[in-house]
Amino acid sequence: MTSDLVYSDHYTTDTRDQLLAKIEAHLRPERFAHVQRVEQTAIALAKQYGADVEKTSIAGLVHDYAKQRPDSDFLQAISDYRLDPDLANWNNAIWHGVVGPEFIKRELGIYDEEILNAVRYHTTGNPYMTTLEKIVYMADYIEPARDFDGVAEAREMTARDLDLGVAFQTWHTLTYLIAENKAIYPKTIETYNAWVPTSGLVK
Ligand code: GDP
Ligand code: FE
Ligand code: FE
Repeated sequence: MTSDLVYSDHYTTDTRDQLLAKIEAHLRPERFAHVQRVEQTAIALAKQYGADVEKTSIAGLVHDYAKQRPDSDFLQAISDYRLDPDLANWNNAIWHGVVGPEFIKRELGIYDEEILNAVRYHTTGNPYMTTLEKIVYMADYIEPARDFDGVAEAREMTARDLDLGVAFQTWHTLTYLIAENKAIYPKTIETYNAWVPTSGLVK
Protein backbone atom coordinates (compact mmCIF):
# COMPACT_ATOMS: atom_id res chain seq x y z
CA MET A 1 0.00 0.00 0.00
CA THR A 2 1.01 3.60 -0.26
CA SER A 3 0.27 4.94 3.18
CA ASP A 4 4.06 4.60 3.50
CA LEU A 5 4.63 6.79 0.43
CA VAL A 6 6.19 9.99 1.76
CA TYR A 7 5.87 13.07 -0.44
CA SER A 8 9.02 15.08 -1.04
CA ASP A 9 7.58 18.63 -0.97
CA HIS A 10 8.49 19.12 -4.63
CA TYR A 11 4.97 18.96 -6.07
CA THR A 12 2.75 19.74 -3.09
CA THR A 13 3.52 21.05 0.38
CA ASP A 14 0.83 18.69 1.71
CA THR A 15 1.47 15.25 3.03
CA ARG A 16 -0.42 12.51 1.21
CA ASP A 17 -2.91 12.38 4.09
CA GLN A 18 -3.48 16.15 3.92
CA LEU A 19 -3.98 15.98 0.16
CA LEU A 20 -6.41 13.06 0.60
CA ALA A 21 -8.45 15.09 3.10
CA LYS A 22 -8.73 18.04 0.70
CA ILE A 23 -9.81 15.77 -2.13
CA GLU A 24 -12.29 13.91 0.06
CA ALA A 25 -13.98 17.21 0.94
CA HIS A 26 -14.83 17.73 -2.76
CA LEU A 27 -15.96 14.24 -3.75
CA ARG A 28 -18.76 11.87 -2.93
CA PRO A 29 -17.57 8.66 -1.25
CA GLU A 30 -17.75 6.48 -4.41
CA ARG A 31 -15.74 9.01 -6.37
CA PHE A 32 -13.22 9.37 -3.56
CA ALA A 33 -12.80 5.58 -3.55
CA HIS A 34 -12.36 5.64 -7.34
CA VAL A 35 -9.51 8.16 -7.25
CA GLN A 36 -7.70 6.04 -4.64
CA ARG A 37 -8.09 2.94 -6.84
CA VAL A 38 -6.79 4.94 -9.80
CA GLU A 39 -3.81 6.01 -7.69
CA GLN A 40 -2.99 2.40 -6.77
CA THR A 41 -3.44 1.15 -10.33
CA ALA A 42 -1.31 4.01 -11.63
CA ILE A 43 1.47 3.37 -9.11
CA ALA A 44 1.67 -0.27 -10.20
CA LEU A 45 1.96 0.87 -13.82
CA ALA A 46 4.57 3.49 -12.82
CA LYS A 47 6.69 0.75 -11.28
CA GLN A 48 6.29 -1.41 -14.37
CA TYR A 49 6.89 1.32 -16.95
CA GLY A 50 9.30 3.58 -15.09
CA ALA A 51 7.43 6.73 -14.08
CA ASP A 52 7.92 8.83 -10.95
CA VAL A 53 5.84 7.17 -8.22
CA GLU A 54 5.20 10.33 -6.21
CA LYS A 55 4.02 12.33 -9.23
CA THR A 56 1.91 9.35 -10.28
CA SER A 57 0.30 9.17 -6.84
CA ILE A 58 -0.56 12.89 -6.87
CA ALA A 59 -1.87 12.81 -10.45
CA GLY A 60 -4.00 9.73 -9.74
CA LEU A 61 -5.49 11.29 -6.62
CA VAL A 62 -6.29 14.67 -8.21
CA HIS A 63 -7.41 13.52 -11.68
CA ASP A 64 -11.15 13.83 -10.88
CA TYR A 65 -10.78 16.65 -8.32
CA ALA A 66 -13.23 18.90 -10.20
CA LYS A 67 -15.69 16.17 -11.21
CA GLN A 68 -18.44 17.19 -8.79
CA ARG A 69 -18.46 20.94 -9.28
CA PRO A 70 -21.51 22.71 -10.62
CA ASP A 71 -21.43 23.75 -14.27
CA SER A 72 -21.44 27.39 -13.16
CA ASP A 73 -17.95 26.98 -11.60
CA PHE A 74 -16.56 25.75 -14.91
CA LEU A 75 -18.23 28.48 -16.97
CA GLN A 76 -16.89 31.08 -14.52
CA ALA A 77 -13.37 29.63 -14.76
CA ILE A 78 -13.51 29.53 -18.58
CA SER A 79 -14.41 33.22 -18.53
CA ASP A 80 -12.14 34.37 -15.67
CA TYR A 81 -9.01 32.61 -16.87
CA ARG A 82 -9.63 33.38 -20.58
CA LEU A 83 -9.69 29.73 -21.61
CA ASP A 84 -10.70 28.71 -25.14
CA PRO A 85 -14.25 30.13 -25.44
CA ASP A 86 -15.39 26.98 -27.28
CA LEU A 87 -15.06 25.13 -23.98
CA ALA A 88 -18.28 26.81 -22.86
CA ASN A 89 -20.13 24.63 -25.42
CA TRP A 90 -19.09 21.39 -23.67
CA ASN A 91 -20.03 19.76 -20.41
CA ASN A 92 -18.74 18.22 -17.20
CA ALA A 93 -17.34 15.15 -18.99
CA ILE A 94 -14.85 17.42 -20.78
CA TRP A 95 -14.54 20.24 -18.23
CA HIS A 96 -13.46 18.20 -15.23
CA GLY A 97 -10.34 17.15 -17.15
CA VAL A 98 -9.53 20.20 -19.28
CA VAL A 99 -10.55 22.91 -16.79
CA GLY A 100 -9.91 20.88 -13.63
CA PRO A 101 -6.26 22.01 -13.40
CA GLU A 102 -7.38 25.62 -12.88
CA PHE A 103 -8.89 24.54 -9.55
CA ILE A 104 -6.05 22.16 -8.74
CA LYS A 105 -3.50 24.98 -9.12
CA ARG A 106 -5.43 27.57 -7.15
CA GLU A 107 -6.93 25.38 -4.43
CA LEU A 108 -4.34 22.63 -4.00
CA GLY A 109 -1.22 24.60 -4.99
CA ILE A 110 -0.04 21.92 -7.43
CA TYR A 111 1.70 23.45 -10.43
CA ASP A 112 3.76 20.64 -11.95
CA GLU A 113 2.87 20.73 -15.64
CA GLU A 114 3.15 16.98 -16.15
CA ILE A 115 0.75 16.32 -13.26
CA LEU A 116 -1.62 18.99 -14.60
CA ASN A 117 -1.37 17.58 -18.13
CA ALA A 118 -2.13 14.10 -16.82
CA VAL A 119 -5.38 15.60 -15.51
CA ARG A 120 -6.02 17.60 -18.73
CA TYR A 121 -5.62 14.53 -20.91
CA HIS A 122 -7.17 11.87 -18.69
CA THR A 123 -10.58 11.89 -20.43
CA THR A 124 -9.69 12.59 -24.08
CA GLY A 125 -6.07 11.52 -24.27
CA ASN A 126 -3.67 13.64 -26.31
CA PRO A 127 -1.61 13.01 -29.47
CA TYR A 128 1.56 13.25 -27.36
CA MET A 129 1.58 11.91 -23.82
CA THR A 130 4.45 11.26 -21.45
CA THR A 131 4.63 7.87 -19.74
CA LEU A 132 3.02 9.41 -16.64
CA GLU A 133 0.20 10.92 -18.69
CA LYS A 134 -0.43 7.59 -20.43
CA ILE A 135 -0.46 5.82 -17.07
CA VAL A 136 -3.14 8.08 -15.59
CA TYR A 137 -5.21 7.77 -18.79
CA MET A 138 -5.01 3.96 -18.55
CA ALA A 139 -5.34 3.61 -14.77
CA ASP A 140 -8.59 5.59 -14.86
CA TYR A 141 -9.88 3.16 -17.47
CA ILE A 142 -8.82 -0.16 -15.95
CA GLU A 143 -8.94 0.42 -12.17
CA PRO A 144 -10.31 -2.71 -10.45
CA ALA A 145 -13.93 -1.53 -10.14
CA ARG A 146 -14.27 -0.75 -13.87
CA ASP A 147 -16.65 -3.21 -15.48
CA PHE A 148 -17.48 -2.91 -19.17
CA ASP A 149 -17.23 -5.08 -22.27
CA GLY A 150 -13.57 -5.00 -23.17
CA VAL A 151 -12.10 -4.15 -19.77
CA ALA A 152 -10.30 -7.50 -19.49
CA GLU A 153 -8.73 -6.91 -22.90
CA ALA A 154 -7.82 -3.35 -21.88
CA ARG A 155 -6.09 -4.65 -18.73
CA GLU A 156 -4.26 -7.37 -20.62
CA MET A 157 -3.03 -5.02 -23.35
CA THR A 158 -1.96 -2.36 -20.85
CA ALA A 159 0.06 -4.93 -18.90
CA ARG A 160 1.73 -6.09 -22.14
CA ASP A 161 2.36 -2.72 -23.82
CA LEU A 162 1.30 0.67 -22.45
CA ASP A 163 0.95 2.23 -25.91
CA LEU A 164 -1.28 -0.62 -27.05
CA GLY A 165 -3.52 0.02 -24.04
CA VAL A 166 -3.70 3.72 -24.97
CA ALA A 167 -4.65 2.84 -28.55
CA PHE A 168 -7.27 0.35 -27.36
CA GLN A 169 -8.94 2.79 -24.96
CA THR A 170 -8.89 5.54 -27.59
CA TRP A 171 -10.52 3.26 -30.18
CA HIS A 172 -13.03 1.82 -27.72
CA THR A 173 -14.13 5.19 -26.32
CA LEU A 174 -14.60 6.83 -29.72
CA THR A 175 -16.52 3.78 -30.97
CA TYR A 176 -18.75 3.96 -27.88
CA LEU A 177 -19.36 7.71 -28.19
CA ILE A 178 -20.35 7.36 -31.84
CA ALA A 179 -22.66 4.42 -31.08
CA GLU A 180 -24.34 6.62 -28.43
CA ASN A 181 -24.67 9.64 -30.77
CA LYS A 182 -22.55 11.72 -28.38
CA ALA A 183 -20.71 14.87 -29.43
CA ILE A 184 -17.01 14.17 -30.00
CA TYR A 185 -14.64 16.70 -28.46
CA PRO A 186 -12.04 17.63 -31.12
CA LYS A 187 -9.13 16.47 -28.95
CA THR A 188 -10.70 13.00 -28.79
CA ILE A 189 -10.47 12.81 -32.60
CA GLU A 190 -6.90 14.16 -32.62
CA THR A 191 -5.96 11.47 -30.10
CA TYR A 192 -7.66 8.82 -32.22
CA ASN A 193 -5.76 9.91 -35.35
CA ALA A 194 -2.43 9.96 -33.53
CA TRP A 195 -2.84 6.60 -31.81
CA VAL A 196 -5.19 4.21 -33.56
CA PRO A 197 -4.36 3.92 -37.29
CA THR A 198 -0.68 3.17 -36.59
CA SER A 199 -1.22 1.06 -33.47
CA GLY A 200 -1.32 -2.42 -34.94
CA LEU A 201 -4.59 -3.00 -33.08
CA VAL A 202 -6.31 -5.93 -34.69
CA LYS A 203 -10.07 -5.62 -35.18
P1 GDP B 1 -14.38 9.30 -15.01
O1 GDP B 1 -14.30 10.78 -14.79
O2 GDP B 1 -13.52 8.52 -14.06
O3 GDP B 1 -15.81 8.80 -14.98
O4 GDP B 1 -13.83 8.95 -16.48
P2 GDP B 1 -13.36 9.91 -17.69
O5 GDP B 1 -12.90 11.22 -17.19
O6 GDP B 1 -12.40 9.12 -18.51
O7 GDP B 1 -14.66 10.06 -18.59
C1 GDP B 1 -15.75 10.87 -18.29
C2 GDP B 1 -16.79 10.71 -19.39
O8 GDP B 1 -16.41 11.44 -20.54
C3 GDP B 1 -17.02 9.27 -19.87
O9 GDP B 1 -18.41 9.00 -19.83
C4 GDP B 1 -16.52 9.30 -21.32
O10 GDP B 1 -17.22 8.39 -22.15
C5 GDP B 1 -16.80 10.73 -21.70
N1 GDP B 1 -16.03 11.24 -22.86
C6 GDP B 1 -14.74 10.99 -23.22
N2 GDP B 1 -14.42 11.61 -24.38
C7 GDP B 1 -15.54 12.29 -24.77
C8 GDP B 1 -15.88 13.11 -25.90
O11 GDP B 1 -15.08 13.36 -26.81
N3 GDP B 1 -17.16 13.61 -25.95
C9 GDP B 1 -18.09 13.34 -24.97
N4 GDP B 1 -19.30 13.86 -25.13
N5 GDP B 1 -17.81 12.59 -23.89
C10 GDP B 1 -16.57 12.07 -23.79
FE1 FE C 1 -12.49 11.74 -15.10
FE1 FE D 1 -11.66 9.01 -13.09
